[in-house]
Amino acid sequence: MAKKNVKVLPAARQILDMNAFDAGAHTGALNPLLERRIANVGASAVLFYREPIEVVSASGSWMTAADGKRYLDFYNNVPSVGHTHPRVVAAVTDQIGRLNINTRYLNSVVDLYLDALKARFPASLSNVVLSCSGSEANDLALRIAAATSGGTGIIVSENAYHGNTSIISDISPSALKRRGLPDHVVTVAAPSNAGQSDSIENAFAADIKRAIAELGRRGHKLSAFICDSIFSSDGVYADPPGFLRKAIETVHKAGGLYIADEVQPGFARTGDAFWGFARHDVMPDVVTMGKPMGNGFPMAGLVTRPELLERFCEDTGYFSTFGGNPVAAAAGMAVLNVIDEEQLQENALRQGNHIKERLRDVAAKDDRIAEVRGAGLFLGIELCRSGKRDQPDAEVASSVINGLKDRGVLIGAAGKFGNTLKVRPPLSLSEEEADIFVDRLADTLSALPAA
Ligand code: PMP
Repeated sequence: MAKKNVKVLPAARQILDMNAFDAGAHTGALNPLLERRIANVGASAVLFYREPIEVVSASGSWMTAADGKRYLDFYNNVPSVGHTHPRVVAAVTDQIGRLNINTRYLNSVVDLYLDALKARFPASLSNVVLSCSGSEANDLALRIAAATSGGTGIIVSENAYHGNTSIISDISPSALKRRGLPDHVVTVAAPSNAGQSDSIENAFAADIKRAIAELGRRGHKLSAFICDSIFSSDGVYADPPGFLRKAIETVHKAGGLYIADEVQPGFARTGDAFWGFARHDVMPDVVTMGKPMGNGFPMAGLVTRPELLERFCEDTGYFSTFGGNPVAAAAGMAVLNVIDEEQLQENALRQGNHIKERLRDVAAKDDRIAEVRGAGLFLGIELCRSGKRDQPDAEVASSVINGLKDRGVLIGAAGKFGNTLKVRPPLSLSEEEADIFVDRLADTLSALPAA
């Protein structure tokens, strides 16, 4: 029987599969380096693009491929102060030539950095644990939450990604392929106004309340609500600032912790504030960070209140061989200094607003752009079937990504259906580079057949 007026949504997409190279679908000969990579890493290969790019060098907002082609990097939010920034390179080079050691020894480079990092947070978040990856930071955050709350239940957004350890994969719906979420994890929809009659703040708090009740029915007391403060993998949801307030109140009333995952939005990217949570005027119990922290030098960490860390450390010994090493601290310090001296937070706001304004003109002429969201240099461009805002179009997103790549611009996708373009260039972006992106996006869209 024909179904009338039934909206058929595409299947949800796994975050690591979006825009990925697919060896199975590849036709023709593999280039030798690609063949070698696949032979080396097997099923864990996560290469980008239908035809992966071999990159050999980078500077500022640009990466150069082995064939000499230059790409404007609008994807990579790790080299946030610009690829190979000379200040970061000099700091790392100097320190690795002097000493690199673990945190069982005193070293002033490390403590100068910890002081500088803590100065960016509310005073109550005065203990820092440094690690090597965002996953490790989130893993520790969950363990601190369990020790503090005595609970086991976790709330996450429905397409969240928080990392790759065992307990963190369990709270990363977008990384799970065949199995569903475990019993102690309940999801909430990303905070958007789609289909809501109430304010985003009220609707999101009501969702959190429902999730707490669901955990209760399953016999789990709330341990934590963890969210990426700009809901990156859910499709970039930033506005209106403050929409997290009531949700966090609800979490705290239920005895749970609020963990702010700043791995993507942190370190000035949103332009409005240094941290994504600060845009919402909320107070996290734990903040985790990573990616841009060392501008490519692998480092991550968390900040929390001393009593929470004490409670966890009473039960469990915790040490990391590489976490908090002086070379990482030197990289991290250079990043903080460059953000300040080059006024990159202000630049992120200025260039982000410029891109948003120009994208409004593009959207006015192309009804496949459903919405442009985001803050500073973290924007999401949601794509849909022509004029049908409720019909996500991941195919057009994929064609735009590959079309932009041909035109020398690198960009990725996010969102439950993989139909939101993620715009995350270095914070040092110039207006000229911002315009190159918008012009090439408009060219790419106009070269695609109407959907
Ligand atoms: N949290 C978020 C929001 C992330 O995007 C990521 C990485 N994509 C992580 C945590 C995990 O960080 P890492 O890959 O450094 O372990």
